[in-house]
Amino acid sequence: MSADTWDECPVCKKEHQKLKEEKYGKISAEEYEELLNHFRNDDKEIDFETVREDYNGGPGFDIDGNWCFSGHASCQKCAASWEIDVKCKLNEKVIILNKEEL
Ligand SMILES: [Zn+2]
Repeated sequence: MSADTWDECPVCKKEHQKLKEEKYGKISAEEYEELLNHFRNDDKEIDFETVREDYNGGPGFDIDGNWCFSGHASCQKCAASWEIDVKCKLNEKVIILNKEEL
């Protein structure tokens, strides 16, 4: 397993946008800044690149000739997480939808 990539967290970005829309101008500047601190990194910059992506395997072929990919991603700020484990057989197309999309 290797820690390969950091990416922006869609959950944190959405939460930040919601905060801007709902709170900006409606609470004191100090309170607003305090809320934004949740999204700041050590340098005090607003930073959404908080999702660590780890790839357990692939993309690549296993011993049976299946094309495989697996990994997981998790946000270090909000604890959102994603996990994927795909095995595609020869001449097969794999489409994955979450339960809500079925
Ligand atoms: Zn997040």
